[in-house]
Amino acid sequence: MSEVQVLASVQQFIERQHGHFIDGKWVNVDNQQRIELINPATEQVVSTIAVGSQGDVEKAVHSAHVAFTNAWANTSPYERGIKLNKLADLVEAHSEELAQLETLTTGKLINLARHLEVANTVIFLRYFAGWATKIHGQTMQPSIPSANGEKYTAYSIRQPVGVVAGIVPWNFSLMIGIWKIGSALSTGCTIVVKPSEFTTLSLLRLAELAIEAGIPAGVINVVTGAGQTGQHLIDSKLVKKVSFTGSVPTGIAIGKQATGNDLKHISLELGGKNAAAILADANIDEILPTLLQATYVHQGQVCAAPERFLVHRSKYDELVQKAAAAIQQLKIGSPLDESSMLGPLSNKPHLEKVKHYLDLAQQNQQIISGGKVLEKTGYFVEPTLLAVKDINDPLFLEETFGPVISVTPFDSDDELIEMMNHSRFGLTASLWTNDLSKALRLIPRVEAGSIWVNMHTFLDPAVPFGGVKASGVGREFSDAFIEDYTELKSVMIRY
Ligand code: NDP
Repeated sequence: MSEVQVLASVQQFIERQHGHFIDGKWVNVDNQQRIELINPATEQVVSTIAVGSQGDVEKAVHSAHVAFTNAWANTSPYERGIKLNKLADLVEAHSEELAQLETLTTGKLINLARHLEVANTVIFLRYFAGWATKIHGQTMQPSIPSANGEKYTAYSIRQPVGVVAGIVPWNFSLMIGIWKIGSALSTGCTIVVKPSEFTTLSLLRLAELAIEAGIPAGVINVVTGAGQTGQHLIDSKLVKKVSFTGSVPTGIAIGKQATGNDLKHISLELGGKNAAAILADANIDEILPTLLQATYVHQGQVCAAPERFLVHRSKYDELVQKAAAAIQQLKIGSPLDESSMLGPLSNKPHLEKVKHYLDLAQQNQQIISGGKVLEKTGYFVEPTLLAVKDINDPLFLEETFGPVISVTPFDSDDELIEMMNHSRFGLTASLWTNDLSKALRLIPRVEAGSIWVNMHTFLDPAVPFGGVKASGVGREFSDAFIEDYTELKSVMIRY
């Protein structure tokens, strides 16, 4: 099949000499250093981005602070909701353009970019828009006894924390960027976003669309660059909250940096080594398509996706044989070709990381299926299934963030729980069974922020999401995000 035609508007956008998007406009950059954005399918340079200096970051934070105290503070919750909905309409209207920008820089399949990343960006934006008018405190009856007949009443209000720093990874930059932007704007905060240096363009385009949507200048700013630019942002005195999504080591460093000096609010959405537990009663033919789709979507570069299959010994051989046969049918190809089922990994450093794990599995003779880097242009690797027996094996313990899945048998519920929880991570998990009674007994014993039954990697804005253990701090979505983006103020009155 042929590749989809890159839109003229996309071509024009990538050919621009991008600066940062600050105070509602493009600004010239302090330094001339630039980062090349590489198309992971072709290894060609797509575009370049600016490297944000401390001065650039301070301009952006200042703009966000002024917007927080003036324009956005004077915008009613109703108007905030209207503007977020308008932005959702514009994202929908420009969906093909945004999807192509994602595909060209991340290697995400075009259909995934359209139907998951951009479509969910719209859904999440509309969800957050609805919250703008529903943020409230409580009234309380004080409990202290009255000495001289005086009475007391008390209430609480929720107020936006102020300027938020949103630091975003490369795997779903537009959608994860919107989780932070939507949370910030609906609660009355303003934001400076630092996208990943590997995939920056879709969030830059979104910042332009926000101005078209009537969101005041300075409410959303985007400063581009690598880790150093993110550090400047976290260090800025006017930043009151850091919302970070990325790896555990970076998250821990950022958490220390953000809380070390002035106790900024933090939410950290970090990595996982998520287990999918296939119980003895599971019908392998029925569950396999859903399980494999959740596992290999976006080449496994999904924080919530399973990387460990734990299979009841009675079903182990059947699962291994059928899964290996199914993944050999997955067509690897250009992400712009609508018939491709797997594209490339998103960037070269990540390819090297995944290759390290494939080499390890090769040395230990653990490969059931796949295991190779394709000898062609682009960062393509085969979807891989590994037999891992030892729960202290690095392939059982370490996040590969690629299409590399370990399969391990278990015999009893207790052994299953021990294996599931034998991890520093605790992001997601799934149970594949029709035995609801057993599932309900196991769920409280699993150390994970999200657990699915007969599904995996399914994020809904109405359901809280976040990790336990080293997988993070804080929750996104539902009403849980409100706590992270607001301060709770108590008011007490004597009368
Ligand atoms: P990184 O931790 O490498 O980077 C995340 C972001 O932080 C990027 O914008 C990066 O910039 C920036 N950054 C890197 N170093 C610093 C620093 N010292 N100070 C401030 N900012 C910094 O993660 P990846 O981008 O590689 O993303 C993959 C990881 O993210 C995986 O572990 C995955 O599990 C996790 N993830 C978690 C999700 C969740 O919701 N729990 C969702 C998606 C991914 P740059 O890229 O320019 O270096």
